[in-house]
Amino acid sequence: ESPLTIPTSSVDVHQSELDHDSVHSDGDGGPDMQTPNESDASVDESVAESALEMEDVSVSLRPVVASIAIDGTSATTIIIDSTSGDPLCRPYLYNESCPDALPLVKSIAPPKHTVCSGSSTLCKLVSWWNSCDSSKESAVLLHQADWLLWLLHGKLGVSDYNNALKVGYDPEMDSYPPWLLSQPYSHLLPSVQHPGTKIGCMKEDIRTQFGYPKDCLICTGTTDSIAAFLAAGATLPGKGVTSLGSTLAIKLLSTKRVEDARFGVYSHRLDDKWLVGGASNTGGAVLRQLFSDEQLKKLSEQINPLEASPLDYYPLQAVGERFPVADPNMEPRLHPRPKNDVEYLHGILESIARIEAKGYTLLKDLGATPVEEVITSGGGSKNEKWIKIRERVLGLPVSKANQTEAAYGAALLAMKGACENTASD
Ligand code: ADP
Repeated sequence: ESPLTIPTSSVDVHQSELDHDSVHSDGDGGPDMQTPNESDASVDESVAESALEMEDVSVSLRPVVASIAIDGTSATTIIIDSTSGDPLCRPYLYNESCPDALPLVKSIAPPKHTVCSGSSTLCKLVSWWNSCDSSKESAVLLHQADWLLWLLHGKLGVSDYNNALKVGYDPEMDSYPPWLLSQPYSHLLPSVQHPGTKIGCMKEDIRTQFGYPKDCLICTGTTDSIAAFLAAGATLPGKGVTSLGSTLAIKLLSTKRVEDARFGVYSHRLDDKWLVGGASNTGGAVLRQLFSDEQLKKLSEQINPLEASPLDYYPLQAVGERFPVADPNMEPRLHPRPKNDVEYLHGILESIARIEAKGYTLLKDLGATPVEEVITSGGGSKNEKWIKIRERVLGLPVSKANQTEAAYGAALLAMKGACENTASD
């Protein structure tokens, strides 16, 4: 079934796996975690191996795996000792905030830079640097995917420009900016490669333990949302991927980089193009508050998608919206509710489609390549009536992605690394 001609392997590391398996904490994996300290450092390699699920790859496939890449949750960070490889703190999770570091980060970074958020990787690094008084010289910062890849290839301090964006890497200059390099902690920053670049071969001990081939390559990865985008197969400028999960997130491949902090819009680099993204607070979570998935299926079957619904809602779970309208006081609007639930659902789906259309229009107005085609992932993508409604509202071809697993996108990066390696041989 796989279109891959070179067998590759990939891992999509879900946050929960690290929360529950890899971190021996007191069980509080939630957002209100305390500031990490050295006594919490308790991540060991055997746990990492289970996080990597090396044994889940079938024994018969392992000998033919040509390359491996990993995607991980962006801004999940660990600081380790480069001489021993031991963690110097427990991992900072992606959504953990370090407000103590924010004033300092804001004072060195350009205004509205992506690092100017308490949960950015740079705030985590600064917070650690200011609270720790030993091992500073030999420390190295790794993102979640970098750390897991390091366990496989053994070369310390390698990352990719997607994961490194939130620590301050400038993907346009393809280097860390001078304002960051002049900081006393700049030696902790990992070296940065393009996603899907060969780092080296799999370490001998891991390779023999699990039965991977001698020349199995380990390649740089990316963040999990970018891997999910890559999985959907949008490779040309103007192709968009809308994720209809609990929230509505749109990503558009563009020739131009677009940033606007007001709307939370920013761009990741993807080779010679830019992946522009924005996320609304509307989405499937509101539907789930009103209907079960079974009801959604049954009611949707009765909708005529060619007919416009006269109902104009703004479905939100709570007050506040950021994209495509920046209004922290926006109230959810789900009234009037018609007696007929088919009409009600039709109105909600159509209203979400209008928000999606407005999102793509905003990206165009900010300078991105206009969207030409939309591929859909997430729980809402299986709703064929919704796809038809969206085609009418967006005025564009809309389809469901064939592949939606982030791990598939990481496998595509692994294949890229293997192909480039073959070409350079
Ligand atoms: P996430 O990973 O963001 O939690 P998923 O991608 O798993 O979300 O999608 C779950 C969402 O999909 C739910 O909020 C649910 O309302 C929505 N959903 C499930 N079935 C349907 C359907 N038939 N039509 C529209 N939305 C659906």
